[in-house]
Amino acid sequence: MNKNDIMCCKTFISEVEALALTFRGGVHVPEEKNTEGKAVRLFDSPKTVSIPMSQHIGAPCIPIVKKGDTVDMGQIIGEVKAGLGCPVHASVSGTVIAIEEKRNSMGMAVQNVIIENDGENRISPEVRPYEGSFEELTFEEVVEVVRRAGISGMGGATFPTYAKIQSAKDKVDTLIVNCAECEPYITANHRLLLEEPDTVIGGMKILLRAFGLRVGDIAIEDNKPDAVKLIREKVKGSDFAEVKVLATKYPQGDERQLIYAITGKEIPAGKLPADVGCVVFNAETCASVYRAFVYGMPLIKRIVTVDGDCIADPCSVKCPIGTSYRELIDFCGGCTKEYRYIVNGGPMMGAAQWDIDAPVTKGTSAVLVFSEKVKPVYEQPSACIRCGRCVRACQMRLMPNYIATFSREGKYDLCEQYDVMSCVECGACTYVCPGSVPITQLNRAAKAKINEKRKLMKGGAK
Ligand code: SF4
Ligand code: SF4
Repeated sequence: MNKNDIMCCKTFISEVEALALTFRGGVHVPEEKNTEGKAVRLFDSPKTVSIPMSQHIGAPCIPIVKKGDTVDMGQIIGEVKAGLGCPVHASVSGTVIAIEEKRNSMGMAVQNVIIENDGENRISPEVRPYEGSFEELTFEEVVEVVRRAGISGMGGATFPTYAKIQSAKDKVDTLIVNCAECEPYITANHRLLLEEPDTVIGGMKILLRAFGLRVGDIAIEDNKPDAVKLIREKVKGSDFAEVKVLATKYPQGDERQLIYAITGKEIPAGKLPADVGCVVFNAETCASVYRAFVYGMPLIKRIVTVDGDCIADPCSVKCPIGTSYRELIDFCGGCTKEYRYIVNGGPMMGAAQWDIDAPVTKGTSAVLVFSEKVKPVYEQPSACIRCGRCVRACQMRLMPNYIATFSREGKYDLCEQYDVMSCVECGACTYVCPGSVPITQLNRAAKAKINEKRKLMKGGAK
């Protein structure tokens, strides 16, 4: 894209900006989208991949391969025996050199199948495109193809996509493709929209058919004018998609806020989007659905934004699931200075990592590497000065100041009364707090205590 194109996009977006949709609360954070102008680079030659058998909420997979086995790309290597879950596939061709337990990004011990990459990129005979007619696709077929392809939501702790589709059956009249990408630094979805718009739109069409819907919304923040322009051109004259422009604000990508911005509907506490007639899929999820149907390829690669003040050549990289952060960082030129923090995901909701050899999973949207210079803001907390900024920032309309105080004092019953369980841990309150009170962390601690108590009560009631 040249300078004129960018100016043209900017003029275009300034015309729609006044109409941009939004939600109440939230914060404006520095965008730091350093990699938005760089094409995605392919890294398909990690020496080994370490593929966790649990990558989403639900039952973990049991490995169905053993040490010494030869595997091909797209071959199923782990299956769920019972309960919620979908298979895990080999992301490279090669030899299984170990099956061992490792801690995942949330600190839980999970079995990993470790494959030495032979570099041959052999595709498994199990990888077969959908052979039926797309016009006659049934709901059950979509659920089964998506389940077998191992597709799960693309950020943080998410459910398998097939389960999301199943739970929304016969309940929804609105399908939204989430292209908000409101976390600083991350540009993976933005680049996907620019470089593979047809896969995103194609996946959306399949999902629309599953739900028997005629039209869906593609929601893009107004800081991505080139993507708004391109997707509008792609769907121009069609009657199956509308592009909705969202104001750039954090956390616009949160499903509740996205639904409110587009439909004006609020999701009651404890309810799901389907309970208000909506279902939301991430742009990368749509692209994965398309690839599963058209090429038969399961989810074995994903785009990860590699950035932070330590990275020599930040960019978004498409890599096999199981690639280590270390190899990914080396692919981006390595670190120019000593790193202090590695974050899996964005700086607002991502999780700090202690292991540079941890693997990329289906939920890894970014790997951010920061030096000592970029300190967490809550290192020196002071007392609450009752400024009310956290209350204004809270998208869930909670009283974060009170909840944090109760949590610090161990008054978890009061936290519950003040609805801490509705806190989505977006971090907006912590971000705006002038006293550097670690509100989100205190809320998280209170939620954990309340969940513990609920579990005990449930156990006692048996
Ligand atoms: S972390 Fe929780 S309390 Fe804080 S702004 Fe987000 S939803 Fe509100
Ligand atoms: S933003 Fe911080 S200082 Fe202000 S009311 Fe909330 S907790 Fe207190």
